[in-house]
Amino acid sequence: MSPHALPEALRQQLTCWRRHLHQHPEISFQEHQTAAFLRAELEGMPGLEVSQPTPTSVLAVLHGEAGPGRTVLLRADIDALPIEEENTFEFRSQNAGAMHACGHDGHAAILLGAAQLLSAARAELTGEVRFIFQHAEETPPGGAEELVFQTPLMDGVDVSLGLHLLSFYPAGVVAVRPGMFMASPDSFQLTIRGRGGHGGMPEQAVDPVAIGAQVVTNLQHVVSRAVSPFEPLVVSVTQFHAGTADNIIPDTARLAATVRVFSPELRGRAPQLLERVVAGICAAHGAEYEFEYLHAYRPVVNTDWVAEEVRQLAAEVVGEDRVIQADMWAAGEDFSAYLEKSEGCFFAVGSGSPEADSQWPHHHPRFTLDESALETGVQMMVAAARHFTRSR
Ligand SMILES: [Zn+2]
Ligand SMILES: [Zn+2]
Repeated sequence: MSPHALPEALRQQLTCWRRHLHQHPEISFQEHQTAAFLRAELEGMPGLEVSQPTPTSVLAVLHGEAGPGRTVLLRADIDALPIEEENTFEFRSQNAGAMHACGHDGHAAILLGAAQLLSAARAELTGEVRFIFQHAEETPPGGAEELVFQTPLMDGVDVSLGLHLLSFYPAGVVAVRPGMFMASPDSFQLTIRGRGGHGGMPEQAVDPVAIGAQVVTNLQHVVSRAVSPFEPLVVSVTQFHAGTADNIIPDTARLAATVRVFSPELRGRAPQLLERVVAGICAAHGAEYEFEYLHAYRPVVNTDWVAEEVRQLAAEVVGEDRVIQADMWAAGEDFSAYLEKSEGCFFAVGSGSPEADSQWPHHHPRFTLDESALETGVQMMVAAARHFTRSR
């Protein structure tokens, strides 16, 4: 039997925890019942100091009893989404309009399982493990921002680790990527102010629709000509609102876009590169504009040596042939906040399988998990906590 195998009782417990959480989802910043449930479970485990750094997050601290070592933070996010669940299984959401459609129910169950195993084995553990059950990952500014920058959570943390269950990787697979992994989901709002008039006499107006159309196409020039082809940048204009009738040129057009970038350096330059195009086109055609850039989560950039050691641990846990290099993923994650204050790695555990009908995309009303992935998640978190708490 693998040294990483879990006791049967814990495997069943993981499913119970996950199904309870799945049945009682709460959206970002409203995770009161969720936090109370997690807190009660953690308080039943010996050796954990349990507290609530914010009203809807829970922290458990475990001091190893086998001597000094490093401090490792393990993070799970716990919030649900404002989605009406379409699954019909018994443990579907009981809260109308809320659903665990991203797998955070699984993340919380996994971290409970890791806390239970490590607290029982604290006599052989060195250093310190902090288990943070983080609220509000789905809604910027996000719970991590508050925990990392406004509480002492990260004081003395050497390595931070987090995982995401991903339905587009098969259950049983662990996917790790050194360096750039996930994008920053920044955005901008743009108002183009022209001068309205008669649709038949455009020479008397400044047409914000025609100008906006040029802005939309020219923004792609930044992607293709101003940025290296080896540096991913996504600019998607996702809103364009203007006008009221077919014979009226409107005064204004309102546009909004998402801007995804993986490199912190390019992220710094992107607002100026994009605004320069907007300013040039508006000036060329006599319009004014307002450009508001919104910085959301930082990109997730893993520490190379931590990612390499997580990859080696994964090979021990699931076998070399089930460890893959994760693709870069243009979603955002506020795990990046922890990486501002410590080294660390965010990695993926596959949760998709045809048997469990769990290959639906994240944030879909039919999303669910292959629950065997919970076991893999616990094995990874426990192996990583033991490994990274050892003094180097
Ligand atoms: Zn999500
Ligand atoms: Zn998520």
